[in-house]
Amino acid sequence: MDAQDVTADLTEVLCTKEEIDARIKELAAEIDRDYADKDVLLVGVLKGAVMVMADLSRALSSHVTMDWMAVSSYGSGTKSSGVVRILKDLDADLMNRHVLIVEDIIDSGLTLSWLKSNLESRGPASVEICTLLRKPDAVKVDIDVKYVGMDIPNKFVVGYGLDFAEKYRNLDCVGILAPHVYE
Ligand code: 5GP
Ligand code: MG
Ligand code: MG
Repeated sequence: MDAQDVTADLTEVLCTKEEIDARIKELAAEIDRDYADKDVLLVGVLKGAVMVMADLSRALSSHVTMDWMAVSSYGSGTKSSGVVRILKDLDADLMNRHVLIVEDIIDSGLTLSWLKSNLESRGPASVEICTLLRKPDAVKVDIDVKYVGMDIPNKFVVGYGLDFAEKYRNLDCVGILAPHVYE
């Protein structure tokens, strides 16, 4: 089976590969401009942000360093609990660093809001957030997200790093999963 045959499990493609590529290049241009005189440390949140990190970092023309964190925000359900556990911490010391958190999606915003204050407590020069996707609920939480790729409807999406039961991360687009997959 061709890897991209899994798009048959989607009811709708929300962002095509071409749209994602184009938007990431625009975000990279903004970031290049904003950090022109600063060294930025990109902090990717595993595993969903792997694709965004790979494409965004290569679209930047400035030197960057990258580090990774893994957190778990969901209890047993499918909604964020707000209780975040660090599964893998950063290797880097954040003291006086300009940190840019790279995320796949912001839904309730609870994970990122926790993560941002956690990183801010480590003495960085600045902490900003870049997310490829944002859902409508994210506006309810008071968190400043400086770079947003696309606003999407309140549906469960997969692809381009985002999974359902660890599958679909390798799709090159983002889409809504067909009900027959999980019913
Ligand atoms: P939040 O704390 O903002 O509600 O959720 C953050 C995390 O939940 C994201 O980083 C992502 O891992 C997961 N998540 C939220 N919405 C979706 C979605 O529509 N699809 C997938 N696959 N994961 C999601
Ligand atoms: Mg994520
Ligand atoms: Mg997941």
